[in-house]
Amino acid sequence: MFFEKLRRFMYGRYGTDTLNLVLLVAGLVIAFIGQFTRFWPLTIVAYIFYIYAIFRMLSRNIPQRQKEYYSFLKVWTPLQKWFRIRVAAFRERKQYKYFKCPNCHQQLRAPRGRGKIVVTCQRCHKQFNQKT
Ligand SMILES: [Zn+2]
Repeated sequence: MFFEKLRRFMYGRYGTDTLNLVLLVAGLVIAFIGQFTRFWPLTIVAYIFYIYAIFRMLSRNIPQRQKEYYSFLKVWTPLQKWFRIRVAAFRERKQYKYFKCPNCHQQLRAPRGRGKIVVTCQRCHKQFNQKT
């Protein structure tokens, strides 16, 4: 009964996405820092994040919310990719050496312990020496 009412209430509204999740988590982190440092304006900033997330969730202006979401993804996707590479590089630090192509900055990796090798970049096909 409750979920049926909620479903009807949410009909035609934007709902939630990764941006809302990030806003809520960022709000929680800011509120936590505010509590920890006893710097009260941070609590207001946290509430602004929450209110914005709730506003987006209940909004009926779906095209505008999608536009915000795509702008957000332009920043979020490279950040996520950067973080995933860091995690993978740490997890595989004993098996692989991670480095960038000096020409196009493509992220590359090579097995460790092979000494000095000649690497050919997969993206731009430039060859360079790399210590592994
Ligand atoms: Zn390259």
